[in-house]
Amino acid sequence: MAKINQNYLKLPGSYLFSEVARRISAYSAAHPGANIIRLSIGDVTQPLAPSVVEAMRRAVDEMGTAEGFRGYGPEQGYDFLRQAIAQNDYQARGVHMDPREIFVSDGAKSDCGNIGDIFGTDNVVAVCDPVYPVYVDTNAMAGRAGEYQERLGRWSRLVYMPCVEENGFAPAPPKEKADIIYLCFPNNPTGAVAGREQLKAWVDYANANGSVILYDSAYEAFITQEDIPHSIFEIEGARTCAIEFRSFSKTAGFTGNRCAYTVVPMELERDGASLNALWNRRQSTKFNGVPYVVQRGAAAVYTPQGREQTRAAIAYYQKNAQVIRDGLADAGLQTFGGVNAPYIWLKTPGGMGSWEFFDLMLDRANVASTPGAGFGPSGEGYVRLTAFGGAQATAEAVERIKSAL
Ligand code: PLP
Repeated sequence: MAKINQNYLKLPGSYLFSEVARRISAYSAAHPGANIIRLSIGDVTQPLAPSVVEAMRRAVDEMGTAEGFRGYGPEQGYDFLRQAIAQNDYQARGVHMDPREIFVSDGAKSDCGNIGDIFGTDNVVAVCDPVYPVYVDTNAMAGRAGEYQERLGRWSRLVYMPCVEENGFAPAPPKEKADIIYLCFPNNPTGAVAGREQLKAWVDYANANGSVILYDSAYEAFITQEDIPHSIFEIEGARTCAIEFRSFSKTAGFTGNRCAYTVVPMELERDGASLNALWNRRQSTKFNGVPYVVQRGAAAVYTPQGREQTRAAIAYYQKNAQVIRDGLADAGLQTFGGVNAPYIWLKTPGGMGSWEFFDLMLDRANVASTPGAGFGPSGEGYVRLTAFGGAQATAEAVERIKSAL
């Protein structure tokens, strides 16, 4: 009889977003006509940049000709895109990157989850708390997380690094020894960023302990402060201890288009093996590449017009973030993030629980948020608001919260 992967049976239900959706539907059913504004969504709303659309159209036309047709492409991505990434996202910022270190994929979510394939199951894994749930669940599926402790909302074998007000929501390396460390800056859900010195401490820790840092910078395009690193590879020593995940999803509105990339430096070795070679082996065995049309669209993000148009969409979301931060401050609420990230981490007033405050905002202001507790125990007492909505709806939501509270 076929045996299943027992680790899947240990997974708790994906409670957070389904529970948010359930409460919104229940409220709508009980209050017909209520106009609920969702500041809970983590998805972009602005259309693709015209340059991206044009490049994709041209690519579709090419595919319809005998000379331009393409079948399977390179699993690692077309050279034109790998080179554009190396040049624009790294070399232009003074970071040397060889295109062979860049692996184009269909999403940072897949890559963050799949990267575990090249690591043994006996590694000790450290994650931030609160955390993007994909890091935790994929390690649980692989058997690296131990047992789920319902009462604590934690897995027994994971090292949780609390991200709290006292450490600016950016943890220092733990006392315990961790082999694999997930870091995400700008952070989902807190909107926090890590400075150069904080990242240097992590790189030094990883090099000293033989750990590997899995650095998710899916929200890099939202960084506004000059001195904040956009890449872990801006930090000296990172090439021997880090892998980086980036995505066109939030940078250029590709959530429905699907294109991202993972950077694995040639120097990165563990157990005498090259991680670049292992990841290449994994990708070329299990993945058949991102569509040519989509990769042409992604490459158009790096043209002068593409850059200008995608920057305009990001500026639109950044303005929303500012409207939320300023409006909530006027209402006497304390917020974090939203300066270098599309997420605002709102501290609930009067020590209210995350879900309690979620219900209150839904009821009194008809505004949906995401309860922080759903991202991990240290998220209790916070809710996450996103800047990805329409400008008018965002401004209205803020006004409603102000008058409701
Ligand atoms: N990483 C983080 C931290 C995210 O919040 C998200 C999306 O919400 C992703 C990765 C997924 O990116 P992609 O759309 O490229 O799969």
